[in-house]
Amino acid sequence: MDMGIAGKWALVCAASKGLGKGCAAALVREGVNVVITARGEPALQATAAELRALNPLVQVLAVAGDIATPEGRAAALAACPQVDILVNNAGGPPPGDFRDWDRDTWLKAIDANMLAPIELIKATVDAMAGRGFGRVLNITSGAVKAPIDTLGLSNGARTGLTGFVAGLARQQRLVSRNVTLNNLLPGAFDTDRLRVTLAGAAAKTGQSVEAVADARKAGTPARRFGSADEFGAYCAFLCSAHAGYITGQNLLIDGGAYPGTF
Ligand code: NAP
Repeated sequence: MDMGIAGKWALVCAASKGLGKGCAAALVREGVNVVITARGEPALQATAAELRALNPLVQVLAVAGDIATPEGRAAALAACPQVDILVNNAGGPPPGDFRDWDRDTWLKAIDANMLAPIELIKATVDAMAGRGFGRVLNITSGAVKAPIDTLGLSNGARTGLTGFVAGLARQQRLVSRNVTLNNLLPGAFDTDRLRVTLAGAAAKTGQSVEAVADARKAGTPARRFGSADEFGAYCAFLCSAHAGYITGQNLLIDGGAYPGTF
């Protein structure tokens, strides 16, 4: 299927690894020019080189910086000639007990996982509407739908973003101009983030990392973790020319882990 987005420009945040990288790769395969960001320069440049090799016909620009800061966002936006597609992403907040979190801990999570995407949306959606095409995809978490006790910072900040997007995604001045906003909710995907979480759980319980990983897989109907490529393919479809009638949705991609009907 031709996604109909070749030649567009995408800003894919937090994309040197994991799910962001999967999204950038899928878009590059579709002929989309990308600006990718991450804080660490070496991994970012290595990913940029991989993406260029995937499709030599597109431009791949790499901007190092923290997307949770105004400077990081300004640099990313300045590098992108126009943002037709915005993939919002950042590292997830640490797990823990809310009794240990102070105001600064909360503000960090809210900055990265709620306000950064909102600021980038604010900077881009009206111009998208002016051009008659725009796709915003926020990488959130299955924890928005089924909260995870130890991930209270993530549950809280991401649900705030979800509520905001739910309203904006239905604004007639955006939707009637072919601008859509959706959230992609990952379950368990085989990325560095998941490996760190598994190692943390293994250290806590005295089990091996493999045992923890196997138990986690056994709790999913798919009996496996998702891959960044699978995540990227879904992202590319939602960013495609065919997805203009999908907006304001929270789309789980979790191998059947969520047990509800809706
Ligand atoms: P990952 O493999 O650890 O990759 C995170 C990427 O984001 C890296 O490229 C990292 O590079 C970049 N990054 C992190 N913080 C950043 C920041 N402030 N500014 C710019 N770049 C930043 O993580 P992932 O598994 O892809 O997860 C992506 C998001 O999905 C996270 O919010 C995570 O909590 C959420 N999620 C993941 C899963 C899962 O199973 N993997 C499940 C649910 C939710 P630098 O560190 O160099 O900046």
